Amino acid sequence: MARYVFGVDLGGTTAKIGLLTEGGEKVDFWEVKTRTDNNGEFILGDIANAIRDKMKEKNIDDSDVIGAGIGVPGAVNVDGLCYQAVNLGWERYNVVNEFHSKLKLPVKAGNDANVAALGEAWKGGGQGYPNMLLVTLGTGVGGGIINEGKILTGSKGSGGEIGHIHLVDDEPDKCGCGNHGCFEQYASATGAMRLAKRILAATDEDSVLRGKDFECKDIFDAAKAGDKVAMDIAKHYGYYLGKGIAITASVVNPEIIVLGGGVSKAGEMLFDLLKPSFEEFVFPGCKDVKFALAKLGNDAGVYGAAKMLLY
Ligand SMILES: [Zn+2]
Repeated sequence: MARYVFGVDLGGTTAKIGLLTEGGEKVDFWEVKTRTDNNGEFILGDIANAIRDKMKEKNIDDSDVIGAGIGVPGAVNVDGLCYQAVNLGWERYNVVNEFHSKLKLPVKAGNDANVAALGEAWKGGGQGYPNMLLVTLGTGVGGGIINEGKILTGSKGSGGEIGHIHLVDDEPDKCGCGNHGCFEQYASATGAMRLAKRILAATDEDSVLRGKDFECKDIFDAAKAGDKVAMDIAKHYGYYLGKGIAITASVVNPEIIVLGGGVSKAGEMLFDLLKPSFEEFVFPGCKDVKFALAKLGNDAGVYGAAKMLLY
């Protein structure tokens, strides 16, 4: 008899739910709306009902289910306490206790970025490597550290929060966290756009980016096509990306570093861009590491949430 596990990737507008076998085969993935009214008090009940309905539909008994894991957009400690999830309306909310009381099955919870890292380590770009670092290059820079196959959670659930490593002393702009010169101010999609604007303003050289409303993707496309200014922007971007990754890798000594998020769509060129500064700044004992691209896209969180039950 097959045994099943559920994974939930909870976001501010929808929750993605996955029914998987314990071997990680996808059986069914679907979504439910996230109801954030009343400080998000209906969210976990809605998800529990959706899981129960699916079990009925598929004739799955409680005894066939190992449990359900959930990734939450906020810091979650090892006891399941979520300190704050602004997008959901939660503050000091014990996700494991609440979810378990509604679902009546074993449950686990973690931070969504960390959980996505576990998904990539299990079935994605880091498959086969129990020591993995995921760097998510989106609006911000997120991350997850997988050590010996498990999430590094930290004491208050902020383990793997690499976007706010201090990289630059004289950065005039403030980061969302309140500090100056954070990794994500340079290596996120927003950061790449900021670098682009600065570099374009500092030169008169012609560029396809000049005078038009471009997006982050256009920078890397133009660099690939040989646009000199775009290549310079990409080079600067790669410098900061490599430096931030070098600092992180020097602490956690991963076997593989997986790049995910929107910017990672630029593909393999990112490895060439980041390697010079990565190799310059990384601790020599941590230099021998593979680089790969994330493979699961928006499904990583569902896989990772399920995998938490299989530790
Ligand atoms: Zn910051």
